[in-house]
Amino acid sequence: MVKPAIPVDVPKMDTAFTKLGLSDALAFGVQEMGYVEPTPIQAQAIPVVLSGRDLIGSAQTGTGKTAAFALPIIQKLGTHGKLRCLILEPTRELALQVEEAFQKFSKFTDLRVTIVYGGVGYGKQLEDLRGGIDILAATPGRLLDHMEQGNVSLADVDILVLDEVDRMLDMGFLPDVKRIVQKTPNTRQTLFFTATVPPEIASLASWALKDPARVEIGRQRSVAETIAHAFYPVVASQKFELLQLLLEQTDFKSVIIFARTRMGSDRIADRLQRKGHTVGVLHSDRSQRERIEALEGFKSGKFEVLVATDIAARGLDIAGVSHVINYDVPENAEDYVHRIGRTGRAQASGDAFTLVTEEDVRDARSIERFTGMAIERKKIEGFPYIYSALFDEKAQAEVAAAAAKPVSRLHRGVRR
Ligand code: AMP
Repeated sequence: MVKPAIPVDVPKMDTAFTKLGLSDALAFGVQEMGYVEPTPIQAQAIPVVLSGRDLIGSAQTGTGKTAAFALPIIQKLGTHGKLRCLILEPTRELALQVEEAFQKFSKFTDLRVTIVYGGVGYGKQLEDLRGGIDILAATPGRLLDHMEQGNVSLADVDILVLDEVDRMLDMGFLPDVKRIVQKTPNTRQTLFFTATVPPEIASLASWALKDPARVEIGRQRSVAETIAHAFYPVVASQKFELLQLLLEQTDFKSVIIFARTRMGSDRIADRLQRKGHTVGVLHSDRSQRERIEALEGFKSGKFEVLVATDIAARGLDIAGVSHVINYDVPENAEDYVHRIGRTGRAQASGDAFTLVTEEDVRDARSIERFTGMAIERKKIEGFPYIYSALFDEKAQAEVAAAAAKPVSRLHRGVRR
């Protein structure tokens, strides 16, 4: 897997990225990817990483975080040598995404990047590791297996990135992460990213980091202004019919449909396929190969629709999604923001539709409270709606008022 020589002569660059200290080759690379201005986390983190200092960043995926560490790391590594940079990720999808970003950004260098994760065979990974690499993206379990089998040594790691540490904690990976960190040199530079800092994470950070700089890009409460939001009230038995009509009436390039459960997403995918749509499905009961096929197929345009559950889709970077449809309202208002984060990324515009049944009214309201915006209720002309109190604002207000009263008065009120 020797990379070809650097393919083009890189011109002299003078951009916002060179002003942060990045080389002409990297500034040229990001320009080719269409980046004009650094995002806030890039503007803050790139000079810190270049300076060699440890860093704690509280930015989430979607803020340009990957480039914020990948660009300065590539610059610091320079040319091909030993394995000097390790990035730990909680899931295979995130590891793949980070590896892909490193591959793109290092296009004009001879650095070699590879990835190891579980759920697939060892052969290809072993071959890549033995071939000599500079940068490794990995999930903790499989990396430990390779370390135990003597397939990889972390003795020359200069830069360690611990990404999405709060999710590593949720998934029970912190003991594995600690074992891995212990195998890297004490002299390393450590970059640590987490959206929240519960006590376990604070203690891991104080153990793993030395005098870190802090970069905080607030919690992502709001959603991009380029996104148009709408709630579509409907009775549960008509949800699929309404979804179909929305798909027919909408001029979408690519759409992700979120369902609450794995079975639910399989059912929606089956029904859409029978109606002639090309559909990929992403949830945690699918094999790794099926998940990669779904994601790659969606990215390449082979599937026009991707049906996913929250867990499977969290944190994934899928550019160019024109529409997100919440077939089920997320139970957790923060998940709404994450789901919608798939569209309208990096200044693109997108639409976010949510089907709301009577049972979902409370969750829908909590989304409005959490994001601080009133979301318009829409009806589709000509759809044979079965009557629901959801359509009647006066009835809804009465339901809400009655719900707030003690039960005995509610009964009296109903009889009258
Ligand atoms: P991330 O938070 O790393 O997952 O990045 C989110 C998305 O923003 C990715 O699609 C990146 O390619 C894109 N992106 C990152 N930095 C920039 C930038 N400076 N300008 C435009 N898009 C960017």
